[in-house]
Amino acid sequence: MKTTIKKCLNCKKEYAIVQRRAEKSRYCSIVCKNKYAIGEHNSRWKGGRFHSSNGYIWLYKPDHPFANKCDPKGYILEHRFIMEQKIGRYLKRGEVVHHINGVRDDNGIENLVLTTSSINISISNSIRPVTESYRKKRSDIAKRIKRNNRGIFTK
Ligand SMILES: [Zn+2]
Repeated sequence: MKTTIKKCLNCKKEYAIVQRRAEKSRYCSIVCKNKYAIGEHNSRWKGGRFHSSNGYIWLYKPDHPFANKCDPKGYILEHRFIMEQKIGRYLKRGEVVHHINGVRDDNGIENLVLTTSSINISISNSIRPVTESYRKKRSDIAKRIKRNNRGIFTK
């Protein structure tokens, strides 16, 4: 296959790309693409808050203990942060904040449920695109998750 050399917009390194994809290609990797998206040149830049390509909202919180474990560095997922504010502590390993209606940037606290990763995996694996059956299944699952008096959802 014919390849061509392009220069990555983020890291400025040259990389080889299959020619038929070269026209649209701007980054050497998905990591560079995501990093570039944080910059001010990006129209989605709103002072430390942006939508990632997979639909989640990231917040710039460089002092947060998890911020440097994430990529991009210094950013954390907004829905996790909102849940932490609600419960008054940092999330533990294995705790997953799930969007009840399946909309990943709908970060109102009423749309967020704190689950363990095993529940969340069963939810995510069972459904994908936002369709009517998907919404219904989501809400069926949400009904099965009981809410305790601190607003935390558990099995
Ligand atoms: Zn790059």
